[in-house]
Amino acid sequence: MTAVPSTSAATPALELRDVSLLLGDGDETVTALDSVNLRVEPGKLVAIVGPSGSGKSSLLAVAGGLAKPTSGTALVGGTDLGTASKREVAEVRRTRIGYVFQSGNLVPALTARDQLRLPLTFGRVADPRDPAELLAEVGMSHKVDRRPHQLSGGERQRVGIARALMTRPALLLVDEPTAALDRQRSQEVVALLADESHRHGVATVMVTHDQEVLHHCDEVYEMIDGRLAAVSPSPV
Ligand code: ADP
Ligand code: MG
Repeated sequence: MTAVPSTSAATPALELRDVSLLLGDGDETVTALDSVNLRVEPGKLVAIVGPSGSGKSSLLAVAGGLAKPTSGTALVGGTDLGTASKREVAEVRRTRIGYVFQSGNLVPALTARDQLRLPLTFGRVADPRDPAELLAEVGMSHKVDRRPHQLSGGERQRVGIARALMTRPALLLVDEPTAALDRQRSQEVVALLADESHRHGVATVMVTHDQEVLHHCDEVYEMIDGRLAAVSPSPV
């Protein structure tokens, strides 16, 4: 048997083994994911490109414990999200996974500093980052007291990325982070994701439509009709 989770240093941050996900009910069933295999090692920025409706967000939902695979296995740091209890999945989500959304998803009333404190309010975090230090790291130390409406799109994404890193997650899931940004800001935001991944050993999975940011990424996959294939480095 090979299904026993390993706790060795070689454990990937995320591993999808033959994951399929059927959505909908009865005759309206859609195969959102079709036998997907993916391993993401610590410190790597992995991009997933593909047309709208191809299953990219579904992959992030399974990786983030929001949807259980219909078949196959989804492991985060060796924990099987398909068989873990609701409580265990919630704990993995809270402490080991960070999320970055399309337009930052910031809370309108909170300053940048307080956005970063938010992930620490849902339960104990063993070794949180320091909000001021992290905001400096993403180039936002001069705007810690600004609220989202006082920030540009690129700045909101920087705060969103910093917020996702507060708990020192092993896995960062990023859905279309540059969709609302111009070219220059898109380059900066993805360069920042690459830098944070490499610097802190975070495994990052980024879904994107944007071909121009792929040179920042360590590995590129393409999703078509729920099937995932490696684009670069070339599959062996
Ligand atoms: P992408 O992020 O690449 O645009 P999604 O993962 O959102 O693609 O969607 C993959 C497929 O699953 C699409 O055909 C979409 O219409 C379908 N889908 C997504 N969510 C649901 C749902 N809750 N119920 C039924 N079908 C869904
Ligand atoms: Mg999507």
